Amino acid sequence: MGIEINFYIGPVIKVKTIESKSSMGFLSCLNKCNNNGKELNSLFCPLCGNKNEIYEVQEQFYLRPTTNSLFYEQKLDDLFYDVPFDNKEYAIFIPNFYLPENIRSLYNSDKYETFMFDIPKNTDTILNSFVELEETKSFIKFLTEQAPSFTFEIDYLALKYNN
Ligand SMILES: [Zn+2]
Repeated sequence: MGIEINFYIGPVIKVKTIESKSSMGFLSCLNKCNNNGKELNSLFCPLCGNKNEIYEVQEQFYLRPTTNSLFYEQKLDDLFYDVPFDNKEYAIFIPNFYLPENIRSLYNSDKYETFMFDIPKNTDTILNSFVELEETKSFIKFLTEQAPSFTFEIDYLALKYNN
């Protein structure tokens, strides 16, 4: 048993993460002393004697849609699942159902020795057929109606990832 490596080459739905900020504050020394930015429980700084004040910290984080968080209750996890990628900008969803012959591309291969895959020249045609699938339509309908704060795009990608 080793690390399972998965391959996927084909249409994906890229859902943009939402950048967000949260701020918190605590009592600290605002002087340029060694206590600057440290949380202090005293009225005055034990190092420089300055009166402690509220020190504000801003934290940036990314709101990221995942199959579990966003789509599980909608049973959409049967349709698409998010590839475990450490990408700040996007969550990438790939089909969790069997794609028709004209759209199908390379999927996971257990025996991944050496392989060659011809990237289709007509990816636009493939993507057009892909968005016409009932499964894709349901997923996009959900995104548009239930999660309108997330923006998305359809793309053709080659992915390698660990589960
Ligand atoms: Zn100080």
